[in-house]
Amino acid sequence: MQRILSIAAIFFFSLSSYAQEIALTFDDIPSGDGAVFTGMQRTSKIIETLKVYKVKQAAFFVITSQLNRDDAYQRLKMYSDAGHLLANHSHSHNWIGVMGTANYIHDIQKADSILKATALPYKRWYRYPFLDEGPTKTSRDSIRATLAALSLANAYITIDNYDWYINSAASKAIKSNTKINYAELKKFYLEHVWNSIQFYDNIGKKVLGRSPKHVLLLHENDMTALFLGDLIKLLKDKGWKIISPEEAYTDPIARETPDVLFNNQGRVGAIAFAKGIKPEALVQQTEDEKYLDKLLAEKKVFE
Ligand SMILES: [Zn+2]
Repeated sequence: MQRILSIAAIFFFSLSSYAQEIALTFDDIPSGDGAVFTGMQRTSKIIETLKVYKVKQAAFFVITSQLNRDDAYQRLKMYSDAGHLLANHSHSHNWIGVMGTANYIHDIQKADSILKATALPYKRWYRYPFLDEGPTKTSRDSIRATLAALSLANAYITIDNYDWYINSAASKAIKSNTKINYAELKKFYLEHVWNSIQFYDNIGKKVLGRSPKHVLLLHENDMTALFLGDLIKLLKDKGWKIISPEEAYTDPIARETPDVLFNNQGRVGAIAFAKGIKPEALVQQTEDEKYLDKLLAEKKVFE
């Protein structure tokens, strides 16, 4: 009996500590035409893929300076009409240290007004460009106060990765007529994102004692449009559940904003840092562009 109980306890513990739930979020909406898809084609493909894989809600973070594109409003409306959330990703998408805190705050407010003026449903979330929350505590806190005054919640992520770099490397290859091994490219992309999920989930388990509800950072680019379906399938095959971003932000870590300046690796990274884990243990090697180039060459993704 004792043994059965302990096995049951282990099983229960496994279930409760390994929630393995993840929400999908996409930054830099609406991105321009790419090497593979026009912006409109890409938006259509992402929406279609989410529909096919029954992902009812994902979040799309809008850079409002990109709304001067002819197709911008229509693409935003397509995401919104499909049941997804539109949220604020600033107007100019710049670093706080470069713009200065006052200009940066103005930039958030400007994006807020522009998004409201679209009259499309707008989720009151803010995603920091580059996950940069400010170089000093004074700057960080005045921006946090601005978000609070605007009733904008920090739409943090937990899984940071360099998906955008794979996209830019592939786009460069296409534009220069370099032959691409698409099977290897897909494998590379999937491994990259999957390794990132495991990396931050392991840190989460270590510092929280459980697997939190995760928020994956992806970008609205051509590689996302090409491989999103494969990624969702991979996650499901690995036993993960895709949840809505609204559900992900019900996790207790949403209420645990660490008092640190180390925020650009996401919320789990920030919590781990606050608990004394060294920064170098919180950044993957695959966030180094030279290392990624070397890996792409080794795997013969571009021939
Ligand atoms: Zn961005």
